[in-house]
Amino acid sequence: MKTVTTESGIIYEFNKTNPYVIKVPSGTTMKIETYDCFQNQIQTPETEVGRIDWDKINPATGPIFVEDAMPGDILKVTIEKIEIGKQGVMVVGPNLGVMGHKIERMESKILPIKDDKIHFNDIELPLNKMIGVIGVAPEENGVNCGTPGAHGGSMDNKMITEGAILYFPVFAEGALFALGDLHAAMGDGEVSVSGVEVAGEVTVKLDVLKGDRLSHPMLENEVVFTQIVSAETLDEAAKLATSEMIERIVEKTGLPLSEITMLMSAAGHSEICQIVDPLMTARFVVPKWLLKELECTLINE
Ligand code: ZN
Repeated sequence: MKTVTTESGIIYEFNKTNPYVIKVPSGTTMKIETYDCFQNQIQTPETEVGRIDWDKINPATGPIFVEDAMPGDILKVTIEKIEIGKQGVMVVGPNLGVMGHKIERMESKILPIKDDKIHFNDIELPLNKMIGVIGVAPEENGVNCGTPGAHGGSMDNKMITEGAILYFPVFAEGALFALGDLHAAMGDGEVSVSGVEVAGEVTVKLDVLKGDRLSHPMLENEVVFTQIVSAETLDEAAKLATSEMIERIVEKTGLPLSEITMLMSAAGHSEICQIVDPLMTARFVVPKWLLKELECTLINE
């Protein structure tokens, strides 16, 4: 299997001017190694988190040039496997996250990971291995890897896990795909500003789709289809994710907007991804059984 390591190349900004580290044909399955979001700078409880190099934050491994991907296409990313290291790290700090106004100094905590459990002091937390930063080059200027957008990036969406399929709009030739910022677990909101940050390796399959268009990323797993949108406020993000999904279903089925809106109000879900990055991220979630009832294919391959 093709492998890209952190030594092959990392980026701190998604940008169509970034040189690619590898060129692969559509349909390639490959392994991507990632640092944690602190570029592995916090390995012991003694590390002074205020003294790490804050220019080395949120590295994503890549970018990967996917042959045949052209602006207007869709990049389909199937997340086949997420393997993580033996310990994670969390931080809090002044002006970081929801409680940053009350927190007086930077603190970090190392969390050992053993037997599929995360050890937080004496408390065992369940694993929910996920990818915080994943995306393609944006349409216009570069976007730092800590900020989400229509290109993906720091969506910090706990549904981006093993078995999920992401669909990204392609804005640049080759798509220039990259990922990083793995979490051993994270709750909706990512309220402290960090998940259980961890280094690891992700196996993905990359496919270029020519049969449809997207304006923001979508995610599919075994049971649901979701629309993901980031915006200045959570209100805007949630409303836009909802309206994009409803309008897409209307377009795909030809059914009346009023009917689909009622159905989504009855059985769809407006949910928070994260509320701590420079833009907020929300998702609108539709169960697949309902799409089947509607005979609706959301993305034509
Ligand atoms: Zn993270």
